[in-house]
Amino acid sequence: MVNVRNCLYCKKIFMPVSDEKICSDCRNKELEMEEQVRGYVRDHPGITVNQLIEGTGAPSRLVWRMIQQGQFENSGLRDAKYPCGNCGKLITKGVYCYECAGKLRLDAQKFANAANAKKLAEEKKAQSQKTFSNSMYDEINSSRSR
Ligand SMILES: [Zn+2]
Ligand SMILES: [Zn+2]
Repeated sequence: MVNVRNCLYCKKIFMPVSDEKICSDCRNKELEMEEQVRGYVRDHPGITVNQLIEGTGAPSRLVWRMIQQGQFENSGLRDAKYPCGNCGKLITKGVYCYECAGKLRLDAQKFANAANAKKLAEEKKAQSQKTFSNSMYDEINSSRSR
C-alpha cells in the first residue's frame, strides 16, 4: 500500500517517509523560518515573544513550538512563554499548564478505567461464549456416543 498524505500546511499530496505531517517543501520553509527566528533573537536580545513574532512574521505556533522545544534557553528572548494546549494560559514548559495537566491526567485515568471495565466485560462475554460452545460440543459428543 502506498501511503500518501495531504500536507498539513499547503494541502499538497506527499509521501511521508516516517510520520511527518508536512511536505518537504513546507518543512524546508519551516526550517528556514526557524533559522530566521533564531537569528532575530540573536540580533535583538531582550525582545519579547510578541515582538519576535511581529518582527519575523513567523507563525506564532512555530515560535511557540520552538520555545516548547527549548530552542531559546539561554537566549535573549524575554517572556519565553506559550499558551497551554488546552486553556491557552501562558506556560513555560510542557504542553499543558499545571491545572490542565492534572485534569487531563484524571480524564486519562477515567478513560483507562472505562477501557478496563469494557475489557473485563468482553472477557466475561468471551468466557460465557466459550462455555456455551463447549457445552454444545459436549452435547454433540454425547449424542454421537449414544
Ligand atoms: Zn506542504
Ligand atoms: Zn491549561
